[in-house]
Amino acid sequence: MTGTSSSIHLYLPEPRGFCAGVRRAIAIVEQALQQYGAPIYVRHEIVHNKHVIQSLKAKGAVFVEDLSAVPEGSVTIFSAHGVGQNVIAEAHTRHLQIIDATCPLVEKVHQQIIKYAAAQMSIIVIGKSSHPEIIGTIGQIQGYQDLHIINSLHDAETISVKHKNNIGFVTQTTLSVDDTQAIVDVLKSRFPNIHGLQKKDICYATTNRQKAIKAIAAQSECVLILGSQNSSNSKQLRDTALKNGAKLAFLIDDAGEISWDSLQGIQHIGISAGASAPEYLVDELIKTFQQRYDKINIHHVTVVKENVNFKI
Ligand code: SF4
Repeated sequence: MTGTSSSIHLYLPEPRGFCAGVRRAIAIVEQALQQYGAPIYVRHEIVHNKHVIQSLKAKGAVFVEDLSAVPEGSVTIFSAHGVGQNVIAEAHTRHLQIIDATCPLVEKVHQQIIKYAAAQMSIIVIGKSSHPEIIGTIGQIQGYQDLHIINSLHDAETISVKHKNNIGFVTQTTLSVDDTQAIVDVLKSRFPNIHGLQKKDICYATTNRQKAIKAIAAQSECVLILGSQNSSNSKQLRDTALKNGAKLAFLIDDAGEISWDSLQGIQHIGISAGASAPEYLVDELIKTFQQRYDKINIHHVTVVKENVNFKI
């Protein structure tokens, strides 16, 4: 196939793709399959990526949204997003053999919110109420009354709490670093004694990938983010690219989803991948460009070197 231009520049920021929590969660499912044999049940998508899920399904993992779909006594893995205490209790009632693949950084947020509740604090959770991570986080303190989920500057400006001087916040790990900082700044100005991590709970991987995409956004006429539509950190990467100078940005599952019409006349393209997207998808994307264009100029832009691993 011939392209619309003979030459194109591809900007590849680093870090991109798999984070330590995702690598750990996938390895847990693979090891469980080896050790116990198929089927292994996984509550919710282990990580939010279509290709990862398809590959684990092919190896014998069965993904369910509700534990009622798991036969009594079966080996069951909780996804990297974490679960509430009610899910753990249900798993015990059904005598399931639990393996917990919750990311240690999400687990840290769980511990934090439990501490706040034990201290009878007003609790603010910054994040999307329908996201499984937030459901799991608030599920640590089921029934706690003085808890407020907010997700915008307006929410931060208008929220009223019971204990203005005894208040704490936690955040979802995969939000926009800049938007969340603005929300936290408003909360700090309204509630000067608010407790919370100085740098929010947004994880190192989300932070670094957003930093890296910012480094190439302005020179990219279009940015392609590999990741699934239900991946929060991948969506944030697309939005971060747009907010930082990219004229166009698309979130795509793989090279097959590229809208070539949108790339007509474009010669500078940024490519990154969300924390749950495997690197082979980036390789395939580059190969697709190589097949379409006469000359590909690849520019690697390393912003942060990551060396984070979580033990299983
Ligand atoms: S994005 Fe961050 S919090 Fe989520 S699994 Fe990866 S390291 Fe853990």
